[in-house]
Amino acid sequence: MAKWGMVIDLDKCVGCQACTIACKAENNVPHGSPKEQKRATEAYWHKVIAVSSGEYPLVNIEFIPMPCMHCEHPPCVTVCPAKATYKRDDGIVMQNFRRCIGCKYCMIACPYGVRSFNYKEQKKEEYNRPDPPPDKESLGPWPFPHRPHGVVEKCTFCFHRIDKGLREGKKIGTDVVPACVEACPTEARAFGDLDDPESKVSKLLASRDWFRLRQELETEPSVFYLPT
Ligand code: SF4
Ligand code: SF4
Ligand code: SF4
Repeated sequence: MAKWGMVIDLDKCVGCQACTIACKAENNVPHGSPKEQKRATEAYWHKVIAVSSGEYPLVNIEFIPMPCMHCEHPPCVTVCPAKATYKRDDGIVMQNFRRCIGCKYCMIACPYGVRSFNYKEQKKEEYNRPDPPPDKESLGPWPFPHRPHGVVEKCTFCFHRIDKGLREGKKIGTDVVPACVEACPTEARAFGDLDDPESKVSKLLASRDWFRLRQELETEPSVFYLPT
């Protein structure tokens, strides 16, 4: 059984947000209206935060892309009273929209702030599309899972791509990668099996210094960062 993980090279990240947009397109996460953006009620499964240091004009800005960390010990799973969020054997922390009761305990428990509350009912035509999909090359889940108003959503490491790739005998990490990894124009991101010493992610971690966010909490994220 593989143990999926992601490595993000902060030296290569230019903060362009292509990953954030690719994630929205892949997972059918609607864009918010200006009003929703102002109220901060637009849902994101991925975000890029900017951290600045120094004083003008010598300001240094670093960008930190943040998908779900897919923690080895996920506090979100521990607190969910409805068993709507759970960890698969391959390390992916999943979200079952049918079980979620929208209590937001997981959002409070997550130390990384990567979960989003769905304030918006998905329109029927957004998830109940004709079969087969018009774009036969689409890698996105089909039909899109219906996410009703009031559930919590999050990054799933694009498990649908991984599972489809495995069924088709493809190599995960080279032939098949999550949407945000595929879209990154600077190749700042890599994805693969952390237990395979020959995978790109394992080789990167063996050859460079790395860190994980808020390591003191012992959540053991599966997302690793290569420092600048
Ligand atoms: Fe950074 Fe790549 Fe995301 Fe752009 S797409 S913000 S470069 S990780
Ligand atoms: Fe759960 Fe947050 Fe860890 Fe993701 S980053 S597994 S949502 S605690
Ligand atoms: Fe979004 Fe997939 Fe990247 Fe997670 S792995 S942030 S779901 S594109």
